[in-house]
Amino acid sequence: MKFETLAIHKGNQVTDKNQPVVQPITLSTTFIHGNETGALYTRAANPNRSSLEELIAVLERGEDAAAFSSGNAAGTAVFQALEAGSHIIAPNDMYHGLHNSMTMLFKGVHEVTFVDMSDLDAVKAAVQPNTQLIWVETPSNPLLKVTDIRKVAEIAKEAEAILACDNTFATPVFQNPLLLGADIVMHSSTKYFGGHSDILGGALVTKEKNDFWGRVRLVQKVGGAVPSAMDCYWLTRSMRTLAYRMKGHGEHAMILAEYLSVHPKVDKVHYPGLKSHPGHEIAAGQMTGFGGVVSFEVKGGAAEADLLIQNLKLFANATSLGGVESIIERRAAVEGPDTLTPPNLIRVSVGLEHTDDLLEDLDQAFAIL
Ligand SMILES: *Cc1c(COP(=O)(O)O)cnc(C)c1O
Repeated sequence: MKFETLAIHKGNQVTDKNQPVVQPITLSTTFIHGNETGALYTRAANPNRSSLEELIAVLERGEDAAAFSSGNAAGTAVFQALEAGSHIIAPNDMYHGLHNSMTMLFKGVHEVTFVDMSDLDAVKAAVQPNTQLIWVETPSNPLLKVTDIRKVAEIAKEAEAILACDNTFATPVFQNPLLLGADIVMHSSTKYFGGHSDILGGALVTKEKNDFWGRVRLVQKVGGAVPSAMDCYWLTRSMRTLAYRMKGHGEHAMILAEYLSVHPKVDKVHYPGLKSHPGHEIAAGQMTGFGGVVSFEVKGGAAEADLLIQNLKLFANATSLGGVESIIERRAAVEGPDTLTPPNLIRVSVGLEHTDDLLEDLDQAFAIL
C-alpha cells in the first residue's frame, strides 16, 4: 500500500465489540492481570501508544518505533541508551534543544565532537575508536543545511557506529533515512506529525530490533518519558493527513522561498528546494520534497528582522513549526549567544493558509521596513 493509505489505515486496532471505525482511547493506566493481550501498565505499553508506534514504524520503513513525551525525550533516549564513555559525532548546527541535552546532561558521561556534517572529511577525521554514534539532522534547524545520509552512513558503517537521523523537518513523506543507511530515525512529533501546534511528542524508529534497540526500549519503559493515551490518539488522528499536509507545506514553502529570493530587502534565503542552495543536489537525491521551513536573512541586522516580524499580521511570532498556521521567529534570539545562527535570520514555518494571503502580508510588512 502507498503512504497515504498506510497513514489512514495502519495502527488502527479495534477490539471493541461495537466495531467503531476509529480505535477508542484507552485511558486506563492499568489492566486486569491475566488478560488476553498481556497489557499490564500504561508506562510499559498502552493500546493507543502501540498503535501510534506501529503507524510511525510503517511510515518510516522501520521494524519498530518507540513513542516519547517529546522530541527531546526521544533524542535524549538515544544518548541514554549508549554505554557511558561513548564518543558521539554530532552536527555543529544541531537542533539547539538536543545540543543542550548532549552538552548539559551528558557532560562527563559521553564525549562529543561537533562537526560540519556537509564536510565529509571532517566527519571522517572526527572518528575515534570509541565512536558509538553519529547524529545527523537533515535538513537542519534552522539553517536548512543538507547532509548526505548515504555518505555519512558509509562512514558510520566503517566506524561500527550507529547512525541516527533527526528527520523532523523532512518527515517520512519526503525522506526515509532508514532506506539511505541510517539505523535510527528521530522525530519531534510536536511538529509535522501533530501538525496543529497542540501536541508535544517524539519518536524513535529502528531499522532492526537489535540489542541497542532493546536498550532504547528499556530507557522508554524505565525512564518513563512516555506520551499519554490521549496524546497518542491525537497523533494517530493527525498523521492520517500527514501526506496531504506535507504536500501543501512543501508547495507553499517553495512559493515563499522564490518570492524572498528576489526580494530587495532580503540578503539570503535558505531553502533546499532552491537550485541556488548549496545542498540542493544532495537533497534532490535523497528527498522527494523539500519541506515546509524556509529561513531567510533580512538586510541589516537583528533590529530590521525584529521590525519585519512585528509588522506581520498573519504569521504568528512564536517558536516551533510544522503547524497548519504560519509561524515566524528570529531564531538567534531563542538559541542564545553561542549559536551559529546569524542574528538577522528569520525562520518561517510556512503554513497552509492561501499563499496569496501570506505574500500580501509579507508585502505590507516589508513596505514599512
Ligand atoms: C523541535 C525539534 C526537536 C525537539 O522536539 P520537542 O518536541 O520540542 O522536544 C528536535 N529536533 C528538531 C529538528 C526539532 O525541530
